[in-house]
Amino acid sequence: MVLPAVSPRGATDTGPPALVPEPFLHVGEDRVYNPLTDLTLQRGEAGYEALRAMLAGGLADREEDARLAAAGWLVEAGVDPATRSRLKYVSLEAHTVCNQACFFCPVSVAPREGYFMPTELYERIVGELAAYRDTMRS
Ligand code: SF4
Repeated sequence: MVLPAVSPRGATDTGPPALVPEPFLHVGEDRVYNPLTDLTLQRGEAGYEALRAMLAGGLADREEDARLAAAGWLVEAGVDPATRSRLKYVSLEAHTVCNQACFFCPVSVAPREGYFMPTELYERIVGELAAYRDTMRS
């Protein structure tokens, strides 16, 4: 779903930083999901209406803003969204050999030339991935 454009709350204030809805939110009819926190806010739950109002371009109130920001629904305006990305799933193909025959896959009828990733490269990649252990699910 494409999110509506919203104005940063408090952009002209000298107080707390301006807040906007987290740009990665998945907005459904009766719920909002944050893939960065794996939290879902559903209609009827505390903060849901305030967040929907923010997503629609309206304003919440400072207390509600602070609660929504603490839970990751609102973020500071102007911060590069890439700095909040999470590495959650990794698929590491260490070789091209396949002896399956999945009907939907071109490899089953047109096999690729066999290639095995050098062990050193495999170990280096796995070692680098270890830094993301806290956010990876698989
Ligand atoms: S046939 Fe294709 S999809 Fe099936 S296991 Fe092999 S590479 Fe994967």
